Amino acid sequence: MNAGVFASFDLEAWFQVENLRPAFPPESWDALDLRLAEPIERVLEILAKHQAKATFFVLGCIAEREPDLVSRIAAAGHEIACHGYAHQLPSRLGPRLFREDLCRARDILEGIVGKGIAGFRAPSFNYPPWIPEILVKEGFLYSSSLFPTVAHDRYTPVPPDVKGKWLFQWECGLHEILVSSLPVAGRHLPWGGGGYFRILPSGLFRAGVQKILREGRPFVFYLHPWEIDPDQPRVRTISRTARFRHYLGLSHTARHLDKLLARFGGRPLRSLISG
Ligand SMILES: [Zn+2]
Repeated sequence: MNAGVFASFDLEAWFQVENLRPAFPPESWDALDLRLAEPIERVLEILAKHQAKATFFVLGCIAEREPDLVSRIAAAGHEIACHGYAHQLPSRLGPRLFREDLCRARDILEGIVGKGIAGFRAPSFNYPPWIPEILVKEGFLYSSSLFPTVAHDRYTPVPPDVKGKWLFQWECGLHEILVSSLPVAGRHLPWGGGGYFRILPSGLFRAGVQKILREGRPFVFYLHPWEIDPDQPRVRTISRTARFRHYLGLSHTARHLDKLLARFGGRPLRSLISG
């Protein structure tokens, strides 16, 4: 039975998102506070309260700094999956460096959880067509790196032949689980999490989820720990658009997540595919 809510969290620090990249080059990361313990604790509490399970796509560089946090998430019964090592856009890395970044992260995560990692999500949904084959060769079973929605400067558009699908298999055998969007008047609204989830009234958002589920599709959802950290440092040097995208609605997110999981529960993405 595939209808239901499939929750995922991209485990990265508040300063590692693409919007803030100009203000925080990777050389500065080691000296910065990750601010992950509290938001993750909150997420784990909410998941436990509703007996929900989720997938955590973890950055290798975070797992290296906070192995106990990753162990704690895994011990609570959630799926640990891979978000690459340093949150670099694959289209900028190219196939060879991407593979190095991927394997480095996978090896760190497997070392912590003591078993194979099945899932991958590309940083910023940036997903060039050469990635699926590399993932299969490196032992991954699925990816959740496509977000069919209105244009976004970094997201890779969904191939035309898979429009309207929520799950498909690439020729190389990799399963692709698409993040949910809501078809409204011929357009796909980005309903899978992020800004819409933070900004819209939670009842309206849940009505959209209900519509997706009624159509027999699963609701595939994503969120970041920084989205439930309203006290994170504000960065003034980034563009107005970036600031708008990043800081809107942060104080509502945990409450919205609580209501979403109370209504629909949650399962890890891995359970959408067999094998
Ligand atoms: Zn990310």
